[in-house]
Amino acid sequence: MLRDEGYIKYNCLWTETAAIKVAEVSGLNVWRKKLFQQGLLGVYPDGISFGNVSVRKDEKQFIITASQTGKLAVLNENHFSLVTDFDLKGNNLTCSGAMRASSESLSHAAVYTTLPNINAVFHVHHAALWQQYLHKLPTTDVQAAYGTPEMAFEIQRIVKNQEEKHAGILFMAGHEEGIISYGETLDMAGNMLLKIL
Ligand SMILES: [Zn+2]
Repeated sequence: MLRDEGYIKYNCLWTETAAIKVAEVSGLNVWRKKLFQQGLLGVYPDGISFGNVSVRKDEKQFIITASQTGKLAVLNENHFSLVTDFDLKGNNLTCSGAMRASSESLSHAAVYTTLPNINAVFHVHHAALWQQYLHKLPTTDVQAAYGTPEMAFEIQRIVKNQEEKHAGILFMAGHEEGIISYGETLDMAGNMLLKIL
């Protein structure tokens, strides 16, 4: 296990394959475009993309936007990746597709593996919403940093608590501007964000 400055290093094992089928990404892509238009996904002035969306494929697998696609207004099937296996504790992920999965995929995996009824997870960035709702709505511990197993465990802790209430949203104190919404359908996950915007 690789460790770097006290954190377990994120490890993505990607097998380059043909693109995901258009039919499997079309619904997700509709929502991805809506969120992009609202500025919830995009790119910072330093060129770093933010925001990623996913949809469950089956019990163990999900489809997610590929790494560094936030800057693109319109995506096609080449810009999605299929996550086929993951290990939250080891910070390891296995994926396939024309591009490598987002580096924030394990935050999505944490939700899918905890709540079997959830089929869509959206991770967006929004400075004003984040400041407004941090510690008012469910919020991850500030000690849990972006891309660490600790963040994945914090997400698991929160969504487990919210299960009965179907709250569907959480804020990431240790990941500036970071927000996650989730739902049984793409519409439920997406509308959760539009509702508070
Ligand atoms: Zn993020």
